[in-house]
Parts: sequence; C-alpha cells; structure tokens
Amino acid sequence: MSTPPSALAEADRLMTVCNSCRYCEGLCAVFPAMEMRRSFTDGDLSYFANLCHGCGACYYDCQFSPPHEFNVNVPRNLAEVRADSYQAYAWPRACAGLFARNGLDVQINTGASGSAMLPFLINNQVNAAYGSDLAGVINHNVDANVVAVADGTYLRKWLSVVAKDVADLDALKGKRVGIAKGTGSEIFWVGVVKKFNLNPADYTIVDLEAPEMLAATERGDIDAFATWEPWPTRTIRSVKGTKILVDAEGIYNNRNYVYMNRGWIEQNRDTAARFVRALCEANDLIEQDRPAAAALVAKFLNMPLALATELMPKVDYDMNWTDGSLRTIKDAADLLIAQGKMKAPLDYDKYVDTDLLKQVRPASVQITKMPPA
Ligand code: SF4
Ligand code: SF4
Repeated sequence: MSTPPSALAEADRLMTVCNSCRYCEGLCAVFPAMEMRRSFTDGDLSYFANLCHGCGACYYDCQFSPPHEFNVNVPRNLAEVRADSYQAYAWPRACAGLFARNGLDVQINTGASGSAMLPFLINNQVNAAYGSDLAGVINHNVDANVVAVADGTYLRKWLSVVAKDVADLDALKGKRVGIAKGTGSEIFWVGVVKKFNLNPADYTIVDLEAPEMLAATERGDIDAFATWEPWPTRTIRSVKGTKILVDAEGIYNNRNYVYMNRGWIEQNRDTAARFVRALCEANDLIEQDRPAAAALVAKFLNMPLALATELMPKVDYDMNWTDGSLRTIKDAADLLIAQGKMKAPLDYDKYVDTDLLKQVRPASVQITKMPPA
C-alpha cells in the first residue's frame, strides 16, 4: 500500500495553513519542526507524520477544524501519511499459525506505541488496531467509526517511573521528567503526583515519545521518565544507575482494547469475527503455555527471551467485556471532558461493540449495564 498522493498534497496544504497560524506550536514536536521550514518535501511531511502520536489535541484546539471551510484536521491527515512510512515495520505472516487457522492472512505493523497506530483506523487504513483506553476515545471523537470490540489487556504494573542516580521520589524534586504527553504516560505521572502529594511545579516536564526515553536518560537529557514497558525494563537493563521509583499498580491500571473500523466490520463481519477468535486463541495460548507465548513475543519483537519472559506477567490477558472494562473507558472519557478535549459525552452504545465477541465467546461478555454518559 502506498500513500495516496492526495494525502501528501493535503498534508502540504495543512502545514502551510498551520505555519501561518502557529496557534498549536506548544502542543507537540510536529509544529516546532514545521516552523523551521517554509516549504515541505514529501520527506518532511513523512517526518512530521512520524512525530505525531495522534493525541488529537490540535484537532480540538483548532479554530479552522470542520465545519470551517479550511477543513483542518491535522491528526487525521498525518495518520494517512504515516501509514506509508510504517510499512518499513511490517511483519507479515509471522503469526501465520494463529491467524491461518482462522482463514486469515494478516499483516501486523508496529509503531512507537499501540496508541500511535489507532489513527490508522480512521479511513480504514488498517482493519484493526490495539491501543489504550484514552487513545480509543480520542480517535472515536475524531471519527465515530473507530469502535472498541474487546478489552484486550489489563495493565497491572505496565508503567513505571524510572530514574537515574536518584535515590527515591523525594530526591526527584527539581529534576527533569520525560512524559509522552496526551498518552497513558501523562495520566500515570498525574496519578503519581496525586498519590504522593507532589507539587507539579517542582518538576520540569520534557515531552518525549516512549522509545526516546532510554536514550534521553543515557545522554543525561532527562533524570527520569514515566512510561510503559518495555522501556522501563530495557532502561534498567542497559543504563547504569537506573531503577524503578514507583510502578503503576494501584495508581494507573489502565487497559488496552482491540479496535476496529465500524464500516469495515459491517462489510466484513465474518472476517472480523474470525480475527477476534484468533486473538481469543492467542490468549488461550498465553494461559496454557506461557513459555511458548513468550518465545513468540521475543521472536516477533526481536527481543531477548529473558526480557519477554520478565515483561509478560506485568499484564493480564483479558479478551472480554466486563463492567471494569467500561469503567476504564469512562475514566478516559471523564478525563478528556475535564481537560476540555471532548465536548459531548461519550455515547457508549456507539463506541462499545460487543457483538463480535458475543458471536465468538459469548461467556466472555459480562457487562451488566452501560455506564451513564
Ligand atoms: S491545527 Fe489549526 S489552530 Fe493549530 S496551528 Fe494548525 S491551523 Fe492553527
Ligand atoms: S495530533 Fe497531537 S501529536 Fe499529532 S500533530 Fe496534533 S497535537 Fe501534535
């Protein structure tokens, strides 16, 4: 699949509008990079697209977003442009056993985070994606066709505050802390601040993508970071003097969901159901043969087996729908409303699609009632 020329042409148009406006320059790394240029090559536009993590902030803040005639929707367009550049990470057919048994030919693409992949569901550039509660609600607000079809994982100790040459949380005062803004990393840090009665003004926040945090710690650009695995464990293993100051258990136990494009489901219901069944069978494998599952993960991510084995117990593998799944979605929606990033209440009936899982594993759908909006 190659990027349609119109996506790059549209990116060129939008960046020209944004470069005149510059209202969003403090939101993320895209806008400062854009401001260093007066015209944009295709390479520049792909670079901006990869700096964007699809948080949606510039869409909500933009005075030119639809229905304005300028029709500015930067996250949607950069997701389209990003689709092409991520092809380099494509990993076709390596899970052929799991998917082929269900008659599926699946290509898996990985990105900077699961949540960075969700915007690809907009315009159906991918058929399914896996990412956080927050990213799901954000992308549903950009395009109501992005729906959650299963609660995939409960993240028990998946995020940590890791610091270098810092004895404890008290000693972190006055230091630079790396956060991936607009993601679970930021929510976790806010939770740490609240739980330990820290003063947010005592810390210099540095906005970084999760994969950048290890190198930034090693270079001394930051003293600590709050983010998800595998970056905490990778950092502790490779950067001398680093350790976990606090993990997310009891502070931010969020979830990752399986998402699909509603329009695609409606036209491909049987394929969509078989895909959900393949994911349920993957969970069965994790439950029944953890060493085999860890070996698959290590091979897929080109990661040492010992690291994959250490990481896997930090997560519960669900593939279900429970009242807890909905509570987590509600927490994300409430946060976005409180931050002014979501104007209307979330319509759970439109966002949560339990039909596919009901069809495949009826006993795994245990919702008693939808939360009030
Ligand atoms: S997204 Fe909208 S508000 Fe933000 S810089 Fe671009 S045009 Fe301006
Ligand atoms: S969606 Fe978020 S990360 Fe992407 S350009 Fe807008 S503000 Fe930046």
